[in-house]
Amino acid sequence: MFEIHVSAEFEAAHRVVNYPGKCDRIHGHSWTVEAVVTGTELDELGMLVDFKLVKGRLRELLETLDHRMLNELPAFANCNPTAENISSFVYHEMKKADFFQSMPHIKLKQIQVWESPKSSVIYTED
Ligand SMILES: [Zn+2]
Repeated sequence: MFEIHVSAEFEAAHRVVNYPGKCDRIHGHSWTVEAVVTGTELDELGMLVDFKLVKGRLRELLETLDHRMLNELPAFANCNPTAENISSFVYHEMKKADFFQSMPHIKLKQIQVWESPKSSVIYTED
């Protein structure tokens, strides 16, 4: 089994509505998001999937969140844009990438979101 890890960053503001403390106020984070892709078969180049494809899709997705007030985005209209909900959003959007449709031998295993260097969340479908 091979596991590819690719990460990218974005910066955005959010607030955790109804949080009993200062996180209820608007504040920002530099978020790091990591996608983990797994599979067992390598192509003729010896690659599971080109890092560039995974990184490209991840960056494209994070671009939609970058320098935004996350609470105002349709994706978070019915939930707080916590690290948990961001990881779930990125996971489900990432799975729609063309290369996942065209390469059934690879699977998106998880999305990990760091809200700070010491605090992160992992989302998987299991
Ligand atoms: Zn926060």
